Amino acid sequence: MATSELKVLQPEPFKQEEVPWRFDIFARWPWMKRLVRMRSFQFLLILPNLAMFYFFLMTAVFGTPVGNRNIIIVFVWILWWVVLIAALVPLGSRIWCTMCPLPFFGDWLQRRAVIRVRSGKSPGTENKFFGLQKRWPKKLSNIWMQNFGFLFLATFSALLVTRPMVSMVLFAFMIVLAAGMGLVYRLRTFCNYVCPISGFLSLYSMTSTIELRHVSNDECLKCKTKSCIRGSDKGWACPWGVYMGKLDRNNYCGLCFECVKSCPNDNISLFARPFATSDVLLHGYDEVWKACIMLVLALSYSVVLLSPWGQFKNWANVTEMHNWGGFAAYAFGQALLALVIFPGIYYLTIRLAKWYAKADNVPTKELFLKYAYMLVPMGLLAWIAFSVPLIMVNGSYIISVVSDPMGWGMNLFGTADFPWTPFKPDWVPFVQVPILLIGLYYGLKGLHKVGRGLFSDPVQLRRSLLPPAALLLGVTFVFLKLFIG
Ligand code: SF4
Ligand code: SF4
Ligand code: SF4
Repeated sequence: MATSELKVLQPEPFKQEEVPWRFDIFARWPWMKRLVRMRSFQFLLILPNLAMFYFFLMTAVFGTPVGNRNIIIVFVWILWWVVLIAALVPLGSRIWCTMCPLPFFGDWLQRRAVIRVRSGKSPGTENKFFGLQKRWPKKLSNIWMQNFGFLFLATFSALLVTRPMVSMVLFAFMIVLAAGMGLVYRLRTFCNYVCPISGFLSLYSMTSTIELRHVSNDECLKCKTKSCIRGSDKGWACPWGVYMGKLDRNNYCGLCFECVKSCPNDNISLFARPFATSDVLLHGYDEVWKACIMLVLALSYSVVLLSPWGQFKNWANVTEMHNWGGFAAYAFGQALLALVIFPGIYYLTIRLAKWYAKADNVPTKELFLKYAYMLVPMGLLAWIAFSVPLIMVNGSYIISVVSDPMGWGMNLFGTADFPWTPFKPDWVPFVQVPILLIGLYYGLKGLHKVGRGLFSDPVQLRRSLLPPAALLLGVTFVFLKLFIG
């Protein structure tokens, strides 16, 4: 169809298509529901992590300052990171938040209970909470703080991943801040709006192969108690302030399973679903910028750590090289790329798509927000690809450090002298490339799905998809250049 034949359509309501399939895990394996309904379920998961975390903090203080000989560096920045990004998030959504020890003390101070639930009245809930129970300012009720926090930490990542004390100070600060905010503000304000890990967990949990959702919409409409969000004598009010009756994305559900305990109608279940094709809508500029920041950081890390341009590595590694001018250029360049240049290119792509498709019926803002989903699977898989050499090249540190976690010369399991042994380092690009291409595939698939919800005219749809698809291909090409040279 020629351009002049394109119809100018009336604005269409966005049509979110049905998920291809869903599998009710709790219905198939009821013991899993019984398990998460146990009041002690979350505590039993947090407890070993809390103990391990405490041990890691101690190793940072009393152990060797040499990063690859100290367990806090090796376990957190190699093992945990790879498991989180490559397995827990894509397969388990925010399951890390279920067992995360960081907000434990905040919860405890608020609830004055570890396992039991306390009925009573606190603002908006049927539970008794302690502390000031203030409302978090509306202006800050978004993920911008998490965006800036993560970008800031990423800029100093060379310090974080090599200096045990720096990692210790960061985690201790987060625990204290989460506890302090628990005393002042309602529920898990720290997790919702401040935790820098939360920003990327929320974004990439959209791709996950599981979701916790209500089973029957009618049941929720009839429900008088709304105990999932308000709490009851069986479960605490949703710590994330999520109303299960309307939940349709994974982003802000911390998988604490309190709602499964409190729902009086047994109307919540865990579902398996296809990867990266169910939650496909970003809801605000803060989320779009998160997607841009994460993609640019994956790119920037790949340049610094994997590319042949050693200059960038020297600039990022300011504590060893003491090149403050170079570090300032690196930090400024990275922030400019993540906050201005890449989002600007994406915006121009959307303008081009709108012009080419003659999409006067769809506001630019809507197209900008909705087509941004393509950056989510692409970003996640780019991070996974970036993490491949972390485990293949440096994974052997895990074997040696378990026997000598402090770097004191112990040999607990006889593996302390295990030498640094990269595992098939020449295979790394062959693992990275397919992973990246999977990201491209799901990015394009998501883009197409969102586009179909916006345009019913096939020509208009195709034209609107071309520019963003070209951008995604361009990004893939840049990553491929970095991975295979
Ligand atoms: S949001 Fe952050 S602090 Fe909260 S549970 Fe998740 S990872 Fe832990
Ligand atoms: S408590 Fe259960 S039935 Fe009621 S609104 Fe929440 S999920 Fe639906
Ligand atoms: S909806 Fe709320 S209460 Fe239910 S699992 Fe998610 S965070 Fe927990």
